[in-house]
Amino acid sequence: MNMRAARLTKPSYASPASPSVPASPARVFALAARPFCAPAAEKGASQQYGAAAEAGVSRQGSQDASLHNAAPLVDMHLHLDWYGDPGAFARGLSARGAGCLGCTVEPCGYEMLTPLVAGVERVHPALGLHPWYMGEKLVLLRKLDAFCQLAQETRFIGEVGLDFGKAHRESAERQRAAFARVCEAVQPGSVMSIHSVHSASAVLDVLEASGRLADCTCIFHWFSGTSKELARAREAGCFFSVGPFMLKSRRGREYARQIPAAQLLLESDLPECPGTPGDAAAHAALLEETRHAIAELKGL
Ligand SMILES: [Zn+2]
Repeated sequence: MNMRAARLTKPSYASPASPSVPASPARVFALAARPFCAPAAEKGASQQYGAAAEAGVSRQGSQDASLHNAAPLVDMHLHLDWYGDPGAFARGLSARGAGCLGCTVEPCGYEMLTPLVAGVERVHPALGLHPWYMGEKLVLLRKLDAFCQLAQETRFIGEVGLDFGKAHRESAERQRAAFARVCEAVQPGSVMSIHSVHSASAVLDVLEASGRLADCTCIFHWFSGTSKELARAREAGCFFSVGPFMLKSRRGREYARQIPAAQLLLESDLPECPGTPGDAAAHAALLEETRHAIAELKGL
């Protein structure tokens, strides 16, 4: 951790909801949206949609930005079910004033994770169907059926999306059809964490055709598309979660600098494989470092 991060006061947070009441995506989103957004910039937005609208967060990317040190550190793209003990990791994060959107890559991951983290403050399992984990035709149909059923119970969605990179390009059409069905099943007002490798335009097309671009909070995770695609997503009111992996590349840092502070969220995209031992204290410190690295890039 750098010196600047070490001087920070601990984030303060008081949840109005009892742990037994499912958190509203809007509330989670409002918290996560604060790291780079002055509290005043969150007021008075009238022409908004989905969870962002309920939360009163501007989709247009207010320039009235500053680093909000008191905001909780919410990792908006964490593969929580891939830790060896997701419940202990989640409780560790929560105890440190942090939180996460616990993304999964297939419906069974979501079903496994949900009871393990039930009632943990600021920790929200998200229903996913990752393009790398779709499987062959019959398997995919089964996963899609499960996804569509579970999507009626939650408005936390992720990781979903498309990957048209070299290794996955041959399944592009199957991915596109599956993602269209996913988007049809997602409830308006959901928060969606989206994978879009070499496919940001196609992702935006599917989101737009299904209506989810207008009525959901769409978060592009680790955005790596073109400048033109970034502009389209930004202007459509999408959000972008940025983490240490994205900040490793010059283009990633440049995008983090360009994206309006009010559309910028934190992520880690960790761990990298199932069964990883977790260290919640180290993870909270990583989020704090990431927040400061981004703030420095943006001159906040
Ligand atoms: Zn991921």
